[in-house]
Amino acid sequence: MSQQLELVLASANLHKVAEIAEIFADLLPECTLLPRPSLDVVKDVDENADTLIGNAKLKALAIMQATGLPSLADDTGLFVEALGGAPGVHSARFAGDAIRADGSNRDAANRELLLKQLHGVANRRAEFRSVMVVAWPDSNGATTWTIAEGVLVGEIATAERGANGFGYDQVFIPADGATPGATYAEMSSQFKNQISHRRRAVEALIAALRR
Ligand code: IMP
Repeated sequence: MSQQLELVLASANLHKVAEIAEIFADLLPECTLLPRPSLDVVKDVDENADTLIGNAKLKALAIMQATGLPSLADDTGLFVEALGGAPGVHSARFAGDAIRADGSNRDAANRELLLKQLHGVANRRAEFRSVMVVAWPDSNGATTWTIAEGVLVGEIATAERGANGFGYDQVFIPADGATPGATYAEMSSQFKNQISHRRRAVEALIAALRR
């Protein structure tokens, strides 16, 4: 792997960018992560693929084409066993579209709908899946890809708990946290970033990059 590796992040979600930056600083500090061009310059892509990898590829490709540099995109879904894997690939828009630009009201609506659908349901098993995709520009105009995935199993709480994090953090309880029963939102960001699905995906990506 090049010591000079530079990747342009495809995500405009500041929560995810902060987590990815912290995990890379820990695992691959020689890699420079460059911020995504602003949404005025490169619009958000329509995430209309039916897999996490498909959506991550759409995002990475758009940023790679706009910058001419290798781009790193991630896509994440929460797969709930009792709901047949929903919200899964559709986790971001489970309860409909965002109203507020930072997505905070959308996140709250998503959590509320999830708890409603699981009301009285005994099986609360779920897993977070994160994929990391790097799109590499090629002088022939072709694109090559590095793809990795991280999974963390856990369960959905019966009510929201904790004030940290974002998205579904207040309702997801990782199975192998060193703080049993705690939701992601009850952990410090440093602790979440040591155990999370995103950490596992970055670890797998770095292993793939080294090969
Ligand atoms: P995306 O990867 O930005 O498309 O995220 C899909 C959905 O999962 C969004 O609703 C996010 O808020 C949520 N999400 C992504 N990563 C996390 C996480 O680490 N914790 C909780 N929710 C997350």
